[in-house]
Amino acid sequence: MEAKYIDHMGDDLTVVNAARVSFKKKSEEFGDKDAKLVNYLAKHGHWTPFGHAMVTLHLKTPIFTARQLFKHQVGLVVNEVSRRYVDDEPEFFMPISWRGRPPGSIKQGSGEEIIDRMWSEVLAMDSHPNRLANHVYETAAQAYKDMLVAGVAPEQARMVLPQAMYTEWWWTGSLAAWARICTLRLDAHAQLEVQSVAKQINEVIAPLFPVAWKALLPQIPG
Ligand SMILES: Cc1cc2nc3c(=O)[nH]c(=O)nc-3n(C[C@H](O)[C@H](O)[C@H](O)COP(=O)(O)OP(=O)(O)OC[C@H]3O[C@@H](n4cnc5c(N)ncnc54)[C@H](O)[C@@H]3O)c2cc1C
Repeated sequence: MEAKYIDHMGDDLTVVNAARVSFKKKSEEFGDKDAKLVNYLAKHGHWTPFGHAMVTLHLKTPIFTARQLFKHQVGLVVNEVSRRYVDDEPEFFMPISWRGRPPGSIKQGSGEEIIDRMWSEVLAMDSHPNRLANHVYETAAQAYKDMLVAGVAPEQARMVLPQAMYTEWWWTGSLAAWARICTLRLDAHAQLEVQSVAKQINEVIAPLFPVAWKALLPQIPG
């Protein structure tokens, strides 16, 4: 999983001056008063000054993760690799561990238990979940290849590829939109794989807008 920096527009001063234009004022250098203003804006939900600073990232995550991330739409644009045009060898995500279901009546998320042995009907043997996942990935990748060789269009052959397949996209968003994503996806309720993407997004953006980012995400340490 990756979130790599591509480009950005603006800095902490952009946020300040977008707000100061209300009074036909402009700061030339970022000072204490500006920091106070940024914190005031964030605290009181005046989000529009945070909409003038933009960041573009290159994301690479499995499809099941991208699907959750794509739910964030307002203030963001996406351009994704298309498997209608690209028919490269698919790449698959393998988790560090396979988490058990959450305990009790909790429906969302996963529990502390790690599943490292399982009976597999597919393999007809007792094995590690990675072994079954690899078997499925290899079978799917081979089916995909066979279909392409037979002349099936990539836009249809891709149907046999699993949700663990990596996809890539450029994601441009306002600082306000990125902060919304990180607030929701750094939270303990988000899926761990999505939290790990959000951590990388946070690491790229935080140094670009040190005051504004901290003001928007006061709960994030550091
Ligand atoms: C832990 C977790 C679990 C989730 N589980 C599910 C799930 O089970 N199923 C599922 O489908 N999704 C699920 N989601 C996705 C969630 O419902 C949102 O779609 C997602 O978090 C994007 O939120 P957003 O505020 O960034 O959305 P955006 O669509 O980018 O909207 C941004 C903001 O604009 C405003 N807005 C947007 N559209 C409207 C509108 N129509 N009316 C009024 N205001 C609007 C809201 O203030 C919104 O917060 C989950 C998200 C999280 C974090």
